[in-house]
Amino acid sequence: MSGERAPAQPRHNVHRATAMTDSLESSVIARNVRTVLDRIRQAALRVGRQPDSVRLVAVTKSVSSDHIRPAIEAGVKILGENRLQEAIPKMAAIGPGDEVRWHFIGRLQRRKVKAVVGKFQLIHSVDSVELAVEINRRAEEAGLIQEVLLEVNIAGESSKGGFAPGELPEALAAVEALPNLSVKGLMVVPPLTTDPERTRPHFRAVRDLARSLVGRGLGRIGMEELSMGMSHDYEVAVEEGATLVRVGTAIFGARHA
Ligand SMILES: *Cc1c(COP(=O)(O)O)cnc(C)c1O
Repeated sequence: MSGERAPAQPRHNVHRATAMTDSLESSVIARNVRTVLDRIRQAALRVGRQPDSVRLVAVTKSVSSDHIRPAIEAGVKILGENRLQEAIPKMAAIGPGDEVRWHFIGRLQRRKVKAVVGKFQLIHSVDSVELAVEINRRAEEAGLIQEVLLEVNIAGESSKGGFAPGELPEALAAVEALPNLSVKGLMVVPPLTTDPERTRPHFRAVRDLARSLVGRGLGRIGMEELSMGMSHDYEVAVEEGATLVRVGTAIFGARHA
């Protein structure tokens, strides 16, 4: 709509109404960002963590560039997308700059890897060794090192991808041998519940898993990042050790698509 040329006939009232709606939404988005950043900070302080050890990933799936900009102005530094086709035009409109980084958070098909590698600073959702191998291959072709997280299926849900906790030691050994991959830690999407306290044990289990993997010795694998927590439970996730929280709805409102 906003890309349309002005019509020859005057339609001022229509345009003004649209502009008003946009500015209202922008201020709500900016306020939501400040609220989320403040709650992250409070949650970190409650458990004696440094607030700046947690980074907000604003999840922008189904959100237009016009609505992403006020979020950036309000302090968002990382944008999370889970569909490549959707991310590409937004990257063109907003640009990867010094001020903003893009993370890939959705399920990644192997045939899409070539287009994703190098465009996203961090891929959160590596859910198989085969995918890791393909990312490594494409990163090598592109002459870069791709940072990734390994997705953990913490509750053993058959509907979800990701590594079972027991598979991780072997998977890490395989992934460590991939020179163009840099593993930074783990990511989880626990079973959905309305009560964040029921999710807390899953977050804690992921943190304990990361610690036990560190205890085994990891070579060049890193375990410093834990990507966990969404709109309804990011504060609990921060209390349990999240370093990256992925928040969409609490910033941009409910998605329609
Ligand atoms: C959509 C999405 C989110 C954000 O969910 P909200 O509930 O809107 O905050 C986080 N992580 C992943 C993997 C997602 O797909």
